[in-house]
Amino acid sequence: MSDLDTKIIAALERLAHVLRTLLWEEATASRLSPIQIQTLLYLNSHAEDLCRVGQLAQEFGLTSATMSDAVTTLEAKGLLQREPSPNDRRAQRLRLTAQGRRFSAKLSHWADALHASLAHFSPEEKAQALKFLLKLIESLYRAEIITVARICLTCRFFRANLHRDPRAPHHCALMDKPLAESDLRVDCPEHELVAKG
Ligand code: SF4
Repeated sequence: MSDLDTKIIAALERLAHVLRTLLWEEATASRLSPIQIQTLLYLNSHAEDLCRVGQLAQEFGLTSATMSDAVTTLEAKGLLQREPSPNDRRAQRLRLTAQGRRFSAKLSHWADALHASLAHFSPEEKAQALKFLLKLIESLYRAEIITVARICLTCRFFRANLHRDPRAPHHCALMDKPLAESDLRVDCPEHELVAKG
């Protein structure tokens, strides 16, 4: 492993520590566990067909039993409810209650400190950082280290470098429009997985 690789891993570890700390601070203030907070934030920002216990367990890299415990606690607090899935009556989907939606809106400020730091960087620097991070996520997904990656680089609608315009070289075949590096999505609701090469 090169010295540069070691430094990148050390930097990612520092950033992961920052994210854990911010989440813990929010958890302490709201008297929820970090995974319960992540669950509320996830339910608040994803389509209902992605809101099942099994899906959340995959997203967070947890067992179904651990995920189910977190969901049961949030249900007991009146923040979410389970209901039959319209497509499969045997499956259950999770939905925030009105109280859960209000609570999630407050929690969404947990990353404000990071937003404030990012404001000091140019759009070009941030687009380059996004490109690097998405490529890293794609590589980890292909190595089966992470199981969920709804990013452009793993999407069957993505056409890399289809256009000559350096400002928007890529293309989304679903929306039929060019994509700049900064347009690449990290968690796209329309994503459909391309077959692994
Ligand atoms: S559908 Fe979404 S993930 Fe797929 S290429 Fe288009 S924007 Fe990217």
